[in-house]
Order: sequence, then structure tokens, then C-alpha cells
Amino acid sequence: MSGLLGAAEIREIAERIGVKPTKKLGQNFVVDANTCRRIVKAAEVNSSDVALEIGPGLGSLTLAMLEVASHVVAVEIDERLAIELPITAQRHGFSSEKLTVVTKDAMDVSELAIAPTVLVANLPYNVSVPVLLRFLEKFPTLRAGVVMVQSEVADRLVAKPNSKTYGSPSVKATWWADMSSAGTVGRSIFWPVPNVDSSLVRFVRHAPAGDEELRKKTFQIIDAAFAQRRKMMRGALSDLFGGSGAASEVIASAGIDPTIRGEALELGDFIKIATTLNK
Ligand code: SAM
Repeated sequence: MSGLLGAAEIREIAERIGVKPTKKLGQNFVVDANTCRRIVKAAEVNSSDVALEIGPGLGSLTLAMLEVASHVVAVEIDERLAIELPITAQRHGFSSEKLTVVTKDAMDVSELAIAPTVLVANLPYNVSVPVLLRFLEKFPTLRAGVVMVQSEVADRLVAKPNSKTYGSPSVKATWWADMSSAGTVGRSIFWPVPNVDSSLVRFVRHAPAGDEELRKKTFQIIDAAFAQRRKMMRGALSDLFGGSGAASEVIASAGIDPTIRGEALELGDFIKIATTLNK
């Protein structure tokens, strides 16, 4: 059998292997082949890529990636789905040598046997941000990718300072990559139909702004700034720096107004504060 998965086959596989999609694992499967091809195209996957998929589910996107990538690595937490995936791929004419399935919680994956170059995933909604940030951190070979997430999360990932949706994920993601919107996806292409809207976010990795020590310090400051986003920076960082006076001093010597709120600062400003603190 060639071609991608269709709605009928997806339901048939799920029924046969006894999978009833659960909310807990964010199991909303894409049942539209055109959407899968569109996502893979947006990620610019090419024949030299090792594509990484987190949460392949029944394989809709996986097959679309197998059509173009040199290899696909798929990380799936649900053992029943992980076992069935190579069988589905083979039935659709793809060599088993092109696919590696890792049966694991993505949040526990720190290394992979083959270095991935591009990430394409319809991410499980409850862990989408931590999973994305984790893979950007742990796999520097990932040069780019497209992830499908809840629209509200997509807005946060691409938000700029001074907007309502700007927060810790927006700033942290830009440490690793340039983030941009890659469009929306209708609810009807999923089974079961979710009660939230979904969007695509594209990322392209850039050179890191500093070493791991600076990143960790910067992320600590970002977390403190957004834990109390209505507070001025000197107040938000007072616990971290041993009082608001000390915090004011560090922030001011980084050339930033200590009365500003974190939501007005961009990554470069947080890095300046972290650098000043390290001196
Ligand atoms: N990629 C498939 C598609 O587009 O049809 C399925 C996407 S579905 C939104 C999310 C998938 O992630 C499910 O297959 C679910 O079992 C899996 N999943 C959920 N939590 C996970 C985790 N922590 N690590 C790895 N996979 C996970």
C-alpha cells in the first residue's frame, strides 16, 4: 500500500490495537494527508535530513516524513502506538531501515543514536513547551523545525515584548532559535476533534548567545521576572539577588531601568543582567 494514512485506516488501526485516544496523552491524531504534507513542506525537510518526530501516534506525519527524509526517529510514550508504527510504515512501502522508534517519555530523552537535523511534530499539548525547549537544548544538531501546538501556546512562542502573550517561553525559545508563525490548522483534520485551535510554529536555530553557564543564569532571571510579571524588575529579582536594593544595583549597572517590568525586556536585556551578575 502506498500513500499516506487516511481517516478510515487511522480508526481501523486504533481499534485493532485497542487505542482509545486519551486527553491525558494529548492524543488527537491528524487524519488529513494534505495537512501532513503541508507541515513537512513548511519544515523544509530534505533528502539528507534525519527528521525527529515527538509523539508519532498512529503515524500520519511519520509517513509524510518518510517520503522525503533520509531517516526518521520517532519518540512515542504509548507502547501500543510505538509497536505498531514500523508495521504501518512497512505496509505503506517504507523500508524499516529508515525508521527508528524510541519508546519513551520525550521528557526523559537526552540522547539519540542518530543525530536529528529537523524536528517535525504535532506535540502533545500538555507538555508542548517543555518538550520543545528540552529538544532545542539537548540536540544542537536540530537546525530547524515545525511544531503544531495549541494556538494559545503558538502565540506565546512567537510573542514579542510588551504584548499580552509575551512570557518566559517566548524569551527562552529565542535563546536557541528564531521563532515564527507558520499558519493555523482547522479542528476538523483531527480525530478526535479537539476543543482548542491549533497553529504551526516554525523555528530556525541561530548561534547561541553564550555558554551554558550564562544560559542557566539568564533562564533563572527570566523565570523570576515572569513568575511575578506585574512586578518591577527590582522587586521580581529581589529574592534572587538578596534584596531589592541589590537587585536594583545589578539591573541598573546592566544599563536597564530597575523599575521596568520583565514583559518589556527582550532576551538581550536578560542576558545583560545575567552577565553583570556574573562579573
Ligand atoms: N503525530 C501524531 C499525529 O499528528 O497524528 C499524533 C499527535 S498527538 C497530538 C500526540 C502524541 O504524543 C500521541 O501519540 C501521544 O501518545 C504522544 N505523547 C504524549 N505524551 C508524550 C510524551 N511525554 N513523550 C512522547 N510522546 C508523547
